[in-house]
Amino acid sequence: MSEPVLLSNHVAPVISREMLARLDVSGPRYTSYPTADRFVEAYGPAQYIQALQQRVEGGGAVGGAATPLSIYVHIPFCESVCYYCACNKVITKHHERAQEYLAALRTEVELVVEQLGRGHSVSQLHFGGGSPTFLTDDELEGLLATLQSAFRFVPGGEYSIEIDPRTIDA
Ligand code: SF4
Repeated sequence: MSEPVLLSNHVAPVISREMLARLDVSGPRYTSYPTADRFVEAYGPAQYIQALQQRVEGGGAVGGAATPLSIYVHIPFCESVCYYCACNKVITKHHERAQEYLAALRTEVELVVEQLGRGHSVSQLHFGGGSPTFLTDDELEGLLATLQSAFRFVPGGEYSIEIDPRTIDA
């Protein structure tokens, strides 16, 4: 197995009392962002590009370019279904299906970089949705490398991954 890629300049993960208190509250359930009902035909590529440009033009304002991004990466493949699952997922043992998806993700990242510029700061990253453990180590490292070449992950950010404890290794 190859060496894991670490974010945040190899800073060890910290789970503080403040973080636990902040997250230990009931909240609405959602498994994607934007939530599914926000995906409407009236909001197309032009509207998305406009929103990204507004972010760049917003500069130091809240929500402007100076505000770090949060990234959610949805890997929608699992080998077997969990009974409680409400995620968007495809149950398959055909791991090669991940490659087409990762290629599309790389394209999407580059389209965002075209609008925001390279090196936009990111303070939150979550791998979830389907099981990221569906990916091989090389695929996961490649995905991280794509994100790290596109964005700047700020030290001390929140970087997390959902794992299936039945299959995870070091
Ligand atoms: S691993 Fe996650 S996405 Fe896949 S079936 Fe289980 S809960 Fe759903």
